[in-house]
Amino acid sequence: MDQLGTIRKQFPALHQTVNGHPLVYLDNAATSQKPEAVIRAVETFYRTQNANVHRGAHQLSDQATGAFEAARSSVRRFINAASDEEIIWTRGTTEGINLIAQSYARPLLKAGDEILLTELEHHANIVPWQVVAEQTGAKIRVVPITENGDLNLPEFSALLSNKTRIVSLTHISNALGTINPVAGLVRQAHEAGAVVVIDGAQAAPHLEIDVQRLGCDFYLFSGHKLFAPTGIGVLYGRKALLEAMPPWQGGGEMIKKVSFSGTTYNKLPFKFEAGTPNISGALGLAEAIRFLSNLDRKALARHERALMSKAIELCSSIPGFTRISSPTACASILSFQLNSHHQQDVGLMLDQQGIAVRTGHHCAMPLMERLELPGTVRASFCFYNTFDDVERFAKALQQIAAGGT
Ligand code: PLP
Repeated sequence: MDQLGTIRKQFPALHQTVNGHPLVYLDNAATSQKPEAVIRAVETFYRTQNANVHRGAHQLSDQATGAFEAARSSVRRFINAASDEEIIWTRGTTEGINLIAQSYARPLLKAGDEILLTELEHHANIVPWQVVAEQTGAKIRVVPITENGDLNLPEFSALLSNKTRIVSLTHISNALGTINPVAGLVRQAHEAGAVVVIDGAQAAPHLEIDVQRLGCDFYLFSGHKLFAPTGIGVLYGRKALLEAMPPWQGGGEMIKKVSFSGTTYNKLPFKFEAGTPNISGALGLAEAIRFLSNLDRKALARHERALMSKAIELCSSIPGFTRISSPTACASILSFQLNSHHQQDVGLMLDQQGIAVRTGHHCAMPLMERLELPGTVRASFCFYNTFDDVERFAKALQQIAAGGT
């Protein structure tokens, strides 16, 4: 891909040595590196625009507010939401799911109601539901996976019932890379009368998201996995649902009028944004979206698939290499085990060669329990990775498998 070298040059953190070797960054599912444009956008905000938003009577504040709200519109276009009012800033996916659990689900659920999750979920899409289940007496049901690591679709249908109030599932599994066929699942869940929450933390960087086409009720993602800063994320919610939901946190910004005799709340989306928001983070996210929008995302996805195929081809011949991920619908995530080597040791030995991967349970302990594994090594690819990265990674694994470091 001709563009690749030019794109890669724009990510300064990729161009360093680690433990005496040029860095091979294969931990993109944990967080992505940031392009110069995003770093500059954050810096420019603090150098020239820094002011609080929505309440200043001065020019800087007006400018900051304009840029902040324009960032919201960029996100709206990026995921094709119907209106800016449906875009709520959060700290990330985790905060978004907690908001939905406490503001949407808690007032709705009663004993006997069911929340449907899947075995593929990240802790962020399990624990907030356990908290609300404890608070309300609702029950959590879990859709199993197949031997391949795909969602068991007949079981999904079988577990849906008129007791199912909420279905919350990941678009792409962070541990196995499984891509769930969410549009069809949303349709089925709606037929059963349930509201659907999609955890898009891993999908937003790899797929083109259209929340209207997916038909979901809520969609969440984190900026930091999408080339933007940490501490900024997005909750998309259908307007009718958001309007009916009570605020989650109270404070400045989210109110219309405060009085000791009673307080009224601000309109959407501000009702859910108490306190000073992460302004520079939002601007950074808008810049990341602009950056991505100027690239051919289909070509980037093709390159990522080619990297994955190459990695699978090279690793498959390594003695003791076992791939732990869906062979059918898999994003740029290669989860594996290497014979009797503990995953942590593999990670450390790769790090000695400047190769960054993630090891462990990947915040998906129930999934690891289901797979009867203590954890895996996970290499996750991004369009800025090269075939040379893949070759160095496979060669290092080969050496580890052969007993060297
Ligand atoms: N969901 C999935 C599938 C993830 O991969 C992650 C992060 O790894 C999260 C949720 C939580 O995201 P954050 O920590 O940015 O809130």
